[in-house]
Amino acid sequence: MTDHSTDTHLTVVNHPLVSHKLSLMRRTDTSTAVFRQLLREISMLLAYEVTRDLPMTTKRIETPLCAWDAPVLKGRKLALVSILRAGNGLLDGILELIPGARVGFVGLYRDPQTLRPVQYYCKLPGELDERWTIVVDPMLATGNSSVAAVDLIKQAGARNIVFLCLLAAPEGVARMKEAHPDVRIVTAALDDHLNDHGYIVPGLGDAGDRMFGTK
Ligand code: URA
Repeated sequence: MTDHSTDTHLTVVNHPLVSHKLSLMRRTDTSTAVFRQLLREISMLLAYEVTRDLPMTTKRIETPLCAWDAPVLKGRKLALVSILRAGNGLLDGILELIPGARVGFVGLYRDPQTLRPVQYYCKLPGELDERWTIVVDPMLATGNSSVAAVDLIKQAGARNIVFLCLLAAPEGVARMKEAHPDVRIVTAALDDHLNDHGYIVPGLGDAGDRMFGTK
């Protein structure tokens, strides 16, 4: 059994643990506390997959038996960029695995007239051109805010970008592929479609509301 399906642009991590936890998260009767805990667990599993191709080098170390060229991560600490606010839900689990990662935030809202994303906050780590950058947002829906966030992150110099989400809609994947064909998307599931309100179906509802207990 393979645990993920991959083309060069989209990786769906359908590992049994990820799929099972995601099904629990989708249920209406899952509480905020359990939703958060599952999100933390899934984000660790996704972090494992998304970092699979990190560049490596070797470093001379002393084991109790000999000197040895040990494999270690190469280059600068990687950068995580959360798209506010729901992206923050993915941070804790990933930081548990990669505690030295630098963390940035991008805040966007949708202009009610133009329906275009407008930036209200942006704070990014330095030297993005020398870091692997993982952009996190649980829901890749229309793709409008994801494309705008990646635009900003590229303007700040990032060149190696991966987009990590929990659920993706085909519409969002197509929009990202068109705007940023160089950015690989890693997701726990590719859902069916978007409804008229821009929600992913079958989806899990509003990810921010579910993780923060707001409505
Ligand atoms: N954002 C969400 O939180 N949920 C969706 O289904 C789509 C966008």
